[in-house]
Formats: sequence, structure tokens, C-alpha cells
Amino acid sequence: MNLSDLQDALWRRVTILGSTGSIGTSTLSVIGHARKEFDPAAFPIEALTAQSNVEGLAAQAKAFRPKLAVIGDERLYGRLHDLLAGEGIEIAAGPQSVIQAAARGAEVTMVAIVGAAGLEPALAAVARGGLIALANKECIVAAGHVFRDAVKRSHATVIPVDSEHNAAFQVLDFDQFHSVERVTLTASGGPFRDWSKERMARATPEQAVAHPNWSMGAKISVDSATLMNKGLELIEAHHLFDLPADRLDAVVHPQSIIHCLVSYADGSTLAHLSAPDMRTPIAVALGWPRRIGSPSQRLDLAAAGALTFQEADRDRFPCLALAESCLRAGGMAPTVLNAANEVAVHAFLGGRIGFADICPVVGDCVEAMDGRAISTNLDAVLAIDGEAREIAGQAILRLAA
Ligand code: NAD
Ligand code: MG
Repeated sequence: MNLSDLQDALWRRVTILGSTGSIGTSTLSVIGHARKEFDPAAFPIEALTAQSNVEGLAAQAKAFRPKLAVIGDERLYGRLHDLLAGEGIEIAAGPQSVIQAAARGAEVTMVAIVGAAGLEPALAAVARGGLIALANKECIVAAGHVFRDAVKRSHATVIPVDSEHNAAFQVLDFDQFHSVERVTLTASGGPFRDWSKERMARATPEQAVAHPNWSMGAKISVDSATLMNKGLELIEAHHLFDLPADRLDAVVHPQSIIHCLVSYADGSTLAHLSAPDMRTPIAVALGWPRRIGSPSQRLDLAAAGALTFQEADRDRFPCLALAESCLRAGGMAPTVLNAANEVAVHAFLGGRIGFADICPVVGDCVEAMDGRAISTNLDAVLAIDGEAREIAGQAILRLAA
């Protein structure tokens, strides 16, 4: 590879869906680094989108000069218009405009919207093709078959951004795929790793989002505290790498330095290590297959001292066991799991249910909707997602009464 290949990667046109979130701002940090270190014109931006943080979106647009800025909440159109008056940046508002932004020409689309709300924009980006830097795991958990079909049709290249999957993507030998025995994702264990069940039952939203190693959005932080995040990630890995449940595993690794281990038939296990900083997997995705610079923290093994591992406790963290059973059950169980979990986490963050209520709300919903056959039709998947949200919402109302 020569310098001009690297330069081609640095001049890719980028769209960021969910630019104001944790992954979105880290993506802009990697782009800002390339512009400072390499060329002020590096990574020209086609579109930035956000849901409600209109001030944040406008500030990003002024600093990074996208062609288009989109706010998902239509009521904020006027405010975005005022904030960007005279800047020469096209603006739009509403969920359809987010989808249209995803469909515009960009060589890399960072899908960093949170939740199944990212599904339709992600599919619009996939249909257009190019590199899809996929941070949003809920869309692939909710609609794995729809997503995989869409990728097959468009020949888009999906680069996982979720750190464990990005790590797997780097250490998996796709030419020797038949000899992959096992892919093991690591889990930090979250803020409640050593808490008793009784103590966890009284956990507040503030405690749940205070992750020891990673700084992330509220929803994924709660998922990390319940270990649902690791369960969603096993389902994500199943779809991304076409691996069956019995070749996927999770292990707790409190230091979050090893992100994934791939074991081969000859007894070798290859691991990926990096400091817990999302700007590393983001840089891998933006530059792939080249390696570009990133301002991320560097690994200091001597400072880390020890790397330790323990089995995930599925008794204290029943969400992990529930997600694993949905992975094994297949059908539409992962869709129901994801939708009910989004509703339950939202209710927990809003103070309407306790931490220990999340798993029963999701588990009861999965049971109530058991046995739905797989659908590769988007409308059918969205209908099941909607039904699960309705059932979980009713359960929460009963709990809160
Ligand atoms: P976040 O809550 O910090 O940001 C979410 C972004 O999505 C924001 O820009 C928000 O404006 C936008 N958004 C929210 N609801 C929307 C809607 N209905 N329509 C359109 N846009 C909407 O979340 P995050 O932590 O950046 O996570 C984003 C995704 O990446 C999640 O799916 C998460 O699981 C995944 N992920 C995050 C991390 C991390 O370190 N934060 C790591 C791995 C994977
Ligand atoms: Mg992850």
C-alpha cells in the first residue's frame, strides 16, 4: 500500500447518522484529528443528523461544514434554520429527512443512531452501498435477516464499529473461516459487576450509567449494567459473522483491554487489544482497509498491570441468559427482546420501574410473543417490534400502578 492509497481513504465523503451522540462526537473527533494532522479538507462531510440536540448539531455543522444538517424532531426545524442562517448549509427536519440523508451519496456512512429507530436510515444507507460503519447494534438484532438480505443485494461493505465486533473483524481469518471454533466477546461486567442482587435491585439510573471503563450514551450504559448489552452483541455477532450460537461466547474481563478472542481448530487463540476508547474502532472503520491516525488513548500494559477474566454470572445478570436463549430460539425472539428492552430501559431511566424490573418485563414479553416465524419483510418486522413495545408498555403501566 502506498501513500496515495492512504490519502484516498482520508478523502472519503462521510455521513454521520446520530452525530451528536457519544459515537457521533467520537467520529467527529477522529475526523478533526485527520483534518489537523493531514489536510484541513480531509473527510468532507455530506450530512450530519441528530434527533433533538439542535444546538449541538448546529455547532457541529459550523465546525465541520457538512452539505446537509438534519434534525429528526420536526418541531426544531425553525430553531435549526435560525442557528444556521447564512452558513450555506442545507437543512431539513423529520424522520423521513434522516432516511433521505442516509440515502445521499457518501462513501462512508457512520450509523450511530441509538435503538431500532436507526433501522430504516441504516437500510437506506445499505441500499445506496459503499462502506457502512455500523455502531447501531439494535437494528441488526431487531432485523438481522432483513439487514443481511439488504447487504447481499447492494454489495455494501459493513464494518462493525461495536468494539468487540470491530476487534473480531480484525482478527478473524475470513479465508480460513471453516477453522474458526469459537469467537469470545469480552464484557467489562459494568458498574454492578460485584454487586449483590439485593443491592442491584435498589440501583438508580445515575449509578447504572456510571460505567467504569467506557463513556457512552445512556441506553447502552444501562444495557452494560444489566449485561443485556453482551447478549445483544452475541446476536449481533451471529448475524455479522454468520456464526451459530454454540460458536459464540462471552467472558467478563474487567479491564476492557482485550475486546475479542478468536479460537481456531489448531488450538490457537488470537486476541485484539486496545485501550477502551471508541475512537480506535471508529478509525478502523473510516480508513478500512487502510490504517489511519486516531487521537485515541494508547495501550499501556505495564500501567494496566493485570488482565483478569471471570465467568459471567447469569444468575445475577439474567438479561444475558435471556438474550442467549433468544439467540438460540431464533425466529422473531431477538426482535421482541430488543424492542421490549428499549421500552424497559427507557422506563428505568425515567424512574418508572426499578433496575430489577427490566429483565422480567422483557422476559414476559418474549414469552408472550413466543414462536413467531422469521420474517425477512421489513413491515412485518416493524409490526412485531411495535407489538412488543405495546406489551412491554402495558407491563410497565401495571408495575407503576
Ligand atoms: P447516544 O444516545 O449518545 O447518541 C444517539 C444519537 O442518535 C444521537 O445523535 C441522537 O440525536 C440520535 N437519535 C436518537 N434517537 C433518534 C431517533 N429516533 N431518530 C434519529 N436519531 C436519533 O448513543 P451512543 O452511545 O452514541 O450509541 C449509538 C449506537 O452505537 C447505539 O446503538 C449503541 O448501542 C452503539 N454503540 C455505542 C457505543 C459507545 O461507546 N457509545 C459502543 C458500541 C456500540
Ligand atoms: Mg460493545
